[in-house]
Amino acid sequence: MKQIERKTVCGCCGKEIIQTVTISRYQSDIGLDGRPTKASALPLIQECKYCHYCSIDLGKKISDKAKSVVMSAEYQNILKKDYADMQICKLKAAIYATEDIRAKGYLYLVICWYMEIHNLQGAIEMRRCAVNIMEELFVHGADLEEILVYIDCLRILGRMAEAQEQITAIEELIEDNFPSDNILYKRYKFEQQLVLEKDRNAHYISEV
Ligand SMILES: [Zn+2]
Repeated sequence: MKQIERKTVCGCCGKEIIQTVTISRYQSDIGLDGRPTKASALPLIQECKYCHYCSIDLGKKISDKAKSVVMSAEYQNILKKDYADMQICKLKAAIYATEDIRAKGYLYLVICWYMEIHNLQGAIEMRRCAVNIMEELFVHGADLEEILVYIDCLRILGRMAEAQEQITAIEELIEDNFPSDNILYKRYKFEQQLVLEKDRNAHYISEV
């Protein structure tokens, strides 16, 4: 995991800042829900030192509405809260300011993984929030990989009946469209087995 520092312009206040960029994201293995195995491979949330905008990508321009959220007392207070560590504050702030619902769901998963890897309280609640957002999103459609992540989250939360319902709902799609050596097919079959066994542990792509 190699990181470099790069000058960029804050997507919120427009001032020049230094951002750390990860240039190699080689991962030997990841969880069925996308979780990296090592803490160093978790997406890094950074903060603009001028306006305190927090994001995975500080250089990405945000809307005027999102800017006013960043300037609000509610947002700034999140960064002053006494969470277990600063990354949690920044993640919570990034979630608060994000308008993109898909990105918000992903950030909830990132904060969940961060808490799990560092043995912090609250991971289950964050996974629940991620699941709620996925359900909101799926009204407009989802790709198969997103559905597999959703099923994995339901399984880890112990919501086996709902996980089984999803497994059944996509069975025909999987069986009709994917050969048995396809990775999505194999992930599906593995997940199906885990749900059948009521296994709530985190599992990895390498096991598939
Ligand atoms: Zn800024």
